[in-house]
Amino acid sequence: MPPLLCRKAKAVLQRALLALTVGACALAWAPPASAQTGLPTLGDGSELGSSAERRLGDRIIRELYRDPDYIDDPVLEDYVQGLWQSLLAAARAHGELSAELDERFAWEVLLGRDRSVNAFALPGGYLGLHLGLVGVTSTRDELASVLAHELSHVLQRHVSRLLTAQKKQTPLLLGAMVLGALAASKNPDAAQALVVGGQALLLQNQLNFSRDMEREADRIGYGLMAPAGFAPQGFVGMFDKLQQANRLNDNGSWPYLRSHPLTTERIADMHARIPPGTAIGATAAAPATLEHALVAARARVLANPGVDSLRQWIAEPQSSGWASQPVLRRAAALYVAALGSSQLRDAAGARAAAKKLDDLVRNAPDARQSSDPATRRLLGLLHAEIELAAGAADAALQALPAGSDTGRPELLLRTRALLQARRASEGAQALQTWVANHPKDATAWQLLAAVAQAQGQTLRAVRAEAEAHAARYDYAAAADRFKAGQDLARRSGAAVDHIDASIIDTRLHAMESLLREQAAER
Ligand SMILES: [Zn+2]
Repeated sequence: MPPLLCRKAKAVLQRALLALTVGACALAWAPPASAQTGLPTLGDGSELGSSAERRLGDRIIRELYRDPDYIDDPVLEDYVQGLWQSLLAAARAHGELSAELDERFAWEVLLGRDRSVNAFALPGGYLGLHLGLVGVTSTRDELASVLAHELSHVLQRHVSRLLTAQKKQTPLLLGAMVLGALAASKNPDAAQALVVGGQALLLQNQLNFSRDMEREADRIGYGLMAPAGFAPQGFVGMFDKLQQANRLNDNGSWPYLRSHPLTTERIADMHARIPPGTAIGATAAAPATLEHALVAARARVLANPGVDSLRQWIAEPQSSGWASQPVLRRAAALYVAALGSSQLRDAAGARAAAKKLDDLVRNAPDARQSSDPATRRLLGLLHAEIELAAGAADAALQALPAGSDTGRPELLLRTRALLQARRASEGAQALQTWVANHPKDATAWQLLAAVAQAQGQTLRAVRAEAEAHAARYDYAAAADRFKAGQDLARRSGAAVDHIDASIIDTRLHAMESLLREQAAER
């Protein structure tokens, strides 16, 4: 096991399993903890309500957000969002997603900086997606098939049914159970090293979906593909990959296989769904695009591959037989070499690889590839990122695609470059408008705090820091910063912006009432 994985799993475990060591016993052998303490439980004999489930989901992802392996990479986030929103729209249009559930649940995908192949549905409409899984997909349809399958678990209330079976548990213990099961699924070795592993795995089994649920998620997910604009054969391509990994018995790096056993029934169901005469196999799906190849390459670099792997990948364009490789493969390898070199602080190597990638795309034999706007956008963002990392802010600003102030990756990169160039004030307005429209964007709030600080607007910076915590459900930390803002406003007296000061008062009260609610339902 790579050390980063261990550290990560341990961090989650140590936080989550403190409660779990008690919780696990209570679950398996002792009367429910709630019966002993008189604390409220999630269920009252009926099915777990969607509001209670959402609150449980918020509780769980609050921990995941704090995890060092949680990653908000604007480029990958943007791409995954595109797929995810298409699937949600198809589910709405086909009556799979009720207005009530649509409103109550978060419908949010969290990316994990982890090279293992995994994806999972969490309570409250949250999905976890490891970059390792993104990195092994060959087409957007394959990636969409995984999202469609996990989305269907949520739509069919499979998560709710599993939780309802545990309804005698308090939300605190249930949250710890889910986190513990997640940590154990990522790294059974680390879990066992912490002794509680056996219990954690036991819990994981209790929280696993049944085989019938898996088949149902395949069926519903498959049905969402075409209406969402994806080739349903993406499911077949992904199944092929899972089968290959299964044959290699590569269980450690494919936790997705453990939680989603590829049973003969699932495979038979899938083949029965493919219309007769359709070619079977990954290559039969919609053609792989340059855009997806670059996105998957990015995911592989950001998934914590380790310095040795990175160096090996960076050297690939120098290997023999390089020129005879297909365009997609060479493009992906050059993207990896460019981004990987940048991460290893080799600006010259990064620039050289990015330049070769430009040339390759420009001269691609397929005109659809050479002129694809999505690919060109990725190249522009890559150049900007490399220049920013090299400390060349002006070059970064130049590399950003023109007229691009609406996209999130462009907005965040541009603001960072302006900060580096000591021109923060030029980026303030666009960012302010963005957070007004996207108040849950913690990364944008954090950046706004840096921009305000650079402009000497301390009170506004403190408020933005508080909002970043609030967006990640850390109400205690948010209240702390809002209080600091109040103190600052009092000390500064007349010099303070009264609108800012009154917003801070209102927001502090809101945080305090949320904290009281949380305390009441432990
Ligand atoms: Zn599943």
